Amino acid sequence: MKNPVIALVGRPNVGKSTLFNQLTRTRDALVADFPGLTRDRQYGMGRVGPVPYVVVDTGGLGEPDDATWHHMQRQAMRALDEADIVLLLVDARIGVTPGDDALAREIRERGKAVWLVMNKTDGVDPDVAGADFHSLGLGKPWPIAAVHGRGVRQLIEAVLADQGFDEESQAQGNEAIDTRGIPVAIVGRPNVGKSTLVNRLIGEERVLVYDMPGTTRDAIKVPFERDGQAFVLIDTAGVRRRSRVHETVEKFSIIKTLQAIEAARVVIMVLDAQQQISDQDAHLIGHVMQAGRGLVLAVNKWDGLEPNARERIRRELDVKLGFLDFARPRFISALHGTGVGRLLEEVVRVDESACRELPTPELNRILKEATEAHQPPLVRGRRIKLRYAHQGGRNPPTIVVHGNQTSSLPASYKRYLINHYRKMLRLWGTPIRLELRTGD
Ligand code: GDP
Ligand code: GDP
Repeated sequence: MKNPVIALVGRPNVGKSTLFNQLTRTRDALVADFPGLTRDRQYGMGRVGPVPYVVVDTGGLGEPDDATWHHMQRQAMRALDEADIVLLLVDARIGVTPGDDALAREIRERGKAVWLVMNKTDGVDPDVAGADFHSLGLGKPWPIAAVHGRGVRQLIEAVLADQGFDEESQAQGNEAIDTRGIPVAIVGRPNVGKSTLVNRLIGEERVLVYDMPGTTRDAIKVPFERDGQAFVLIDTAGVRRRSRVHETVEKFSIIKTLQAIEAARVVIMVLDAQQQISDQDAHLIGHVMQAGRGLVLAVNKWDGLEPNARERIRRELDVKLGFLDFARPRFISALHGTGVGRLLEEVVRVDESACRELPTPELNRILKEATEAHQPPLVRGRRIKLRYAHQGGRNPPTIVVHGNQTSSLPASYKRYLINHYRKMLRLWGTPIRLELRTGD
């Protein structure tokens, strides 16, 4: 089952980006460990209740001034079409405005599940403030204070449950695939060669079979085998449809990409060797890291490049993505098939890293070694102590370290520790999550 998509709609300044931050913050720890990656302020993944979701801040899609207002409306409305749930935010302190009214009407006309959310209820009486919004015809507003996170979790739980997205439905969708093979998603900007690669991997006919009428449009899991190893391709409808030359080009969808990342265990991020690495590339990689998925970087269209062009892209990868030193780029030609087999070997290796069981004695030995080689710093005259470690989870590998004053451990030391664990355990291609627990 795919992850629900929640779209935030509302006039400028009602608190959409504040709510967006609340809803995606839970996933930010890993991205913060990679200082070169900025977060995407419009699209994010998160989880505050039982079910992970994709969230879109439609306000972030345009500048809210008069000249671009119209454009922004169009962008927001497109995001609405892809959403399962729309949250229309209004401002408790201002009361209903013609802008609220216009948005409510547009959303209603689209027949989307919409919830009226009244923000900034801190310090106001929600019943008094709420009465004003009944005229929108969307029922009683749901009160929150996004800035403090108040009411947010209850809202999301209620909304998801109401739309039939619960823990059970998510589990049902995922269990079948776990036993069949490594779930792999292929992501990247438009035109980098994703569908060419998909066809290389599973064959044109296979793709078409799965695209035939009668098969569910959302059944985006295509099993395939290579050298005795089973994979399940988490295809985005966009990738699939492109393989039919006579069909119109599907618009690249970040939402479908995020859902595919969430459903995968390993993500093949495709870059185009004939183009510069862009912000959008960096954002997509950021989403993969944020989700804690294994990452394989495929630099495509390597065929026919002059040696100095190859040198250029190598340098650019170093400068822009050098901090991803755990995910070495693989150079491929999806068109000719060069390097594609090795790419899948890399997927298997990364998956093994992401899902491996890490023995406690080894984790403790490595911790001891790391802290002896390089002691944690003093805080207010007392040395931070890291005492013992154990595994807290897999995919991504999560290492729990217990000690004293661990909340004061600097980010640089955390990175040192993560890198040390990575090297000693040979955990390649996967982010590592470090959880610190304190005994004092
Ligand atoms: P957006 O334009 O809809 O994305 O709105 P922002 O998230 O940027 O918020 C606009 C302003 O409202 C900021 O100054 C926020 O700090 C403030 N704000 C957001 N949520 C709340 C809230 O729950 N209570 C109060 N008092 N202020 C809030
Ligand atoms: P998508 O939008 O990411 O699915 O990209 P496509 O697979 O549709 O490819 C976009 C264009 O790049 C097409 O014209 C492909 O033929 C071309 N292309 C894809 N892979 C390669 C490659 O390895 N080498 C070269 N030279 N062209 C490629």
